[in-house]
Amino acid sequence: MTMTRVLSVPSAKAPFEKTTIERRELRPHDVFIDIKYCGICHSDIHSAFDEWGGGIFPMVPGHEIAGVVAAVGSEVTKFAVGDRVGVGCFVDSCGECEYCLSGEEQYCTKGVISTYNALDYDGNPTYGGYSQKIVVTENFVVRIPDGLELDVASPLLCAGITTYSPLKHWNAGPGKKIAIVGMGGLGHLAIQFAHAMGAEVTVLSRSTNKKDEALGFGANHYFATSDPATFTTLAGRFDLILNTVSANLDVDAYLSMLRVDGTLVNVGAPAEPDKYSVFSLIMGRRSIAGSLVGGIRETQEMLDFAAEHGIAPKIEVIRADQVDEAYQRVLRSDVRYRFVIDISTL
Ligand code: NAP
Ligand code: ZN
Repeated sequence: MTMTRVLSVPSAKAPFEKTTIERRELRPHDVFIDIKYCGICHSDIHSAFDEWGGGIFPMVPGHEIAGVVAAVGSEVTKFAVGDRVGVGCFVDSCGECEYCLSGEEQYCTKGVISTYNALDYDGNPTYGGYSQKIVVTENFVVRIPDGLELDVASPLLCAGITTYSPLKHWNAGPGKKIAIVGMGGLGHLAIQFAHAMGAEVTVLSRSTNKKDEALGFGANHYFATSDPATFTTLAGRFDLILNTVSANLDVDAYLSMLRVDGTLVNVGAPAEPDKYSVFSLIMGRRSIAGSLVGGIRETQEMLDFAAEHGIAPKIEVIRADQVDEAYQRVLRSDVRYRFVIDISTL
């Protein structure tokens, strides 16, 4: 076992503490990673505040992990010491069910193992990337392309794949009108991916504050949802609405902006249930859907796509002792657009 320094929350909503945990002995297929940067996802906040329930404490959040391979197990074939690598939201799955076999490990029927706030198949708690080191089986490690700096790459491991995957699944591309709701960590990447895929992109943000940056990320149109006229102007407009908002929305109002056969895809994950009228669906043969992160193969594809198209998160690098404050700033939407922890400050 190896001791590693971590930032840990002892109980829901408690401030972070610097402490140590043990990482397991390397198994034959394990990769030992020196973490350099870890992004702060809004899911870290939902989890550390136990808003979704079932939180396992003490908790070490973090699933936007970028680092360098420091050692490999005896049977590792995909990685070598010195490789620049990433780990996202998951660290294991059964590897045998139909979803694992098709590269969609996130929907594993045995239950995918989350990078933190979960119990692995041996019953041990998992601890995430607010940590100096992590041990992960090689099938859940991805390669960070040379064209991406590690700090910039880290948010792609969750925010990137969580938006890339549904955009691809619902065929974002030329001729498609797509709305991105909420311009935070996920949203500002969704704009860039949808634009690079060739879709016509509209940003729906609460205020007009982020308009210039949205257009800079490739948006064709920008509307403020605080203006009720937005919903009438855009009635029946979109093929796809990707909702990245961490709070409940007026779902009927958003459904009204879909064309016939359009789909509202939720990736934002508010704790409370949504409410909508079935007539909002019936009257336009519309669908409501959801999407969970993305599989490992697709995560690698997304990283390569980002490097090739010059897609990059806009980040603010912080020290380990600034994480509590950063959480408060994310809750106030006072971040452009992703905090990334410099793990050397831990
Ligand atoms: P974030 O950076 O806080 O961005 C959320 C954005 O939503 C904000 O920037 C804001 O955009 C908008 N917003 C916030 N509060 C709102 C409110 N009360 N009403 C309307 N809009 C509001 O969060 P994130 O890291 O992108 O994560 C977003 C959500 O996705 C979280 O719930 C997270 O847990 C979830 N998530 C899901 C998955 C998945 O697999 N499905 C993966 C990762 C994250 P504007 O200022 O532009 O309005
Ligand atoms: Zn996340």
